[in-house]
Amino acid sequence: MKPFDIVIVGGGGAGLYAAMEAMKTNPSLNIAVLSKVYPNRSHTSAAQGGANAALANKAKDDTVEMHIFDTIKGSDYLADQDAVDILCSEAPKIIRELDNIGTPWSRLDDNTIAQRPFGGAGRPRCCYCADKTGHTILQTLYEQCLKKGVFFFNEYFSLSLSVNNSRMRGLLAMNMKTGKIEAFPAKTVIFATGGYAKMYWNRSSNAAGNTGDGQAIAYRAGIPLKDMEFVQFHPTGLRKSGLLVTEGARGEGGYLVNKDGERFMARYAPEKMELGPRDLVSRSIETEILQDRGFDSPAGKYIHLDLTHLGAELIKSRLPQIREMSMNFEGVDPIEEPIPVRPTAHYSMGGIDTDNYGRTVMDGVYAAGECACVSVHGANRLGGNSLLDILVFGRIAGHTAAEEAGKFEPGVISPEEIKAKDEELRSFMQSSGHYERYGALREELGQTLALNVGIYREASKISRGMDELSLLKERFKKIRVFDSSDIFNTNLMQVLELQNMLDLAETVAAGALAREESRGSHTRNDFPTRDDEKWHKHTIATLDNGTVKLGQKPVTMGRYELQERTY
Ligand SMILES: Cc1cc2nc3c(=O)[nH]c(=O)nc-3n(C[C@H](O)[C@H](O)[C@H](O)COP(=O)(O)OP(=O)(O)OC[C@H]3O[C@@H](n4cnc5c(N)ncnc54)[C@H](O)[C@@H]3O)c2cc1C
Repeated sequence: MKPFDIVIVGGGGAGLYAAMEAMKTNPSLNIAVLSKVYPNRSHTSAAQGGANAALANKAKDDTVEMHIFDTIKGSDYLADQDAVDILCSEAPKIIRELDNIGTPWSRLDDNTIAQRPFGGAGRPRCCYCADKTGHTILQTLYEQCLKKGVFFFNEYFSLSLSVNNSRMRGLLAMNMKTGKIEAFPAKTVIFATGGYAKMYWNRSSNAAGNTGDGQAIAYRAGIPLKDMEFVQFHPTGLRKSGLLVTEGARGEGGYLVNKDGERFMARYAPEKMELGPRDLVSRSIETEILQDRGFDSPAGKYIHLDLTHLGAELIKSRLPQIREMSMNFEGVDPIEEPIPVRPTAHYSMGGIDTDNYGRTVMDGVYAAGECACVSVHGANRLGGNSLLDILVFGRIAGHTAAEEAGKFEPGVISPEEIKAKDEELRSFMQSSGHYERYGALREELGQTLALNVGIYREASKISRGMDELSLLKERFKKIRVFDSSDIFNTNLMQVLELQNMLDLAETVAAGALAREESRGSHTRNDFPTRDDEKWHKHTIATLDNGTVKLGQKPVTMGRYELQERTY
């Protein structure tokens, strides 16, 4: 294949914005987007609630500075303040740019872009398209990329970077339609492969494909990962499936209620109540359940999200998807009855370590979106800031790669390297004797993480989790793929995803054990307070002789000093 100037791995919001911006920066570039699912089906399409920007349409006194402060406070002071400045300052521009290219934002009566309140924010600044915001953004970006001549390789599964003497030469991927390994020689590669919270299996709101492939590929190529221990639990997942009920439901006025009929958030966040930040609301729900004030059912313990007082008209117009999901997956119509919910693993704050331009430590390799850690979310992301992150930093990474592609020689990938990769994959189909199956290992991985590295953590549990992960990795060596066909071998793809998750799960657990403090989404029962002296730092995970090696990196401070975080 002819070398590409830029290969973008991932067709979600980050990847498509990067592609659109790279084309705009230099229309003569040869740009490819690879995606293991059809781009419109990327997890971005599931984002319901919206994207933050201090447009001051709804609250006239909102400012970019307030957005910056809310984000830094929300991050429990672990976000890099220069990166947060970029995120929030670019926000109004990017929302308007999307408006100009056709995103159908919901409107206020005066026809300006509508905004709703979201957790941890001082003002209603979340811009939305009903409860289908991500879906509409993704459609808009996909159209633009097709129009501008980006090459799409849909249903291609990326496997590894080709690296020689620390020089990146391109990427190897499997064409799912043929099972063939294909080489993508490239001057630059941008990872935009999304998050890793699906590790938590059915305790997760994520799409099946959010398995951290890009992070694992980068990690194995020697690129460091940052703050992997920070996994956000969203307060309101549906009880049975973990599927998400957007924060917009509380933004519109929904209540959280325990089995005694109490709006228990008064105990934990008397001012913000249900609109406290996600880490705090998730811990509050978990505590209610642990202290036996939740409801019980064969599908697990839960609490109620009550929307009944909002009325049929509001629910039908502003939360139609939530109604549909509650009816389909819980058999409950939120107009009539409260929705059964519990916290669900939702977002990966950690990811590939990048600078503010999307660069990693390896020349020619960039990352953006949920798979990257810039870091703008620190220890806890605010709702509505992730769509914003993928747009702002997707655009920046696309621009940087387009500007810098000319600095690098096009890579050459040898036929021997392709053949070796093919043989590596075929070996999964040939293992004999005692073997392991995908399903069992996958489920055990999710359970181990939910039990030992979940919302509340402590040394003994995390260590147990790490031992179990080592055993799972040993068992993985005997895994067998039973489907030996070339065409859409989804069993092989799942096994490769599992391999990626097993590597990343170790970095999550190792970071969680090392970080002896409680900060943001990371809550240690044995170290219940924040320890700024020892832990106001990012953790850095690198692969060293097959195991995780942890290092640290300072947090970039700015105008805001460390403060106690209360709501
Ligand atoms: C249910 C839900 C609701 C959310 N709601 C909101 C919200 O209202 N507001 C907000 O700000 N945030 C929200 N978020 C978070 C936000 O949607 C995500 O963080 C964001 O969309 C991630 O975008 P992305 O482009 O980084 O990755 P994704 O959209 O996940 O895209 C990843 C892409 O990478 C590709 N890929 C992955 N692995 C491979 C591989 N091995 N080979 C080839 N391609 C690969 C996939 O095919 C896909 O195209 C929500 C998240 C969820 C799960």
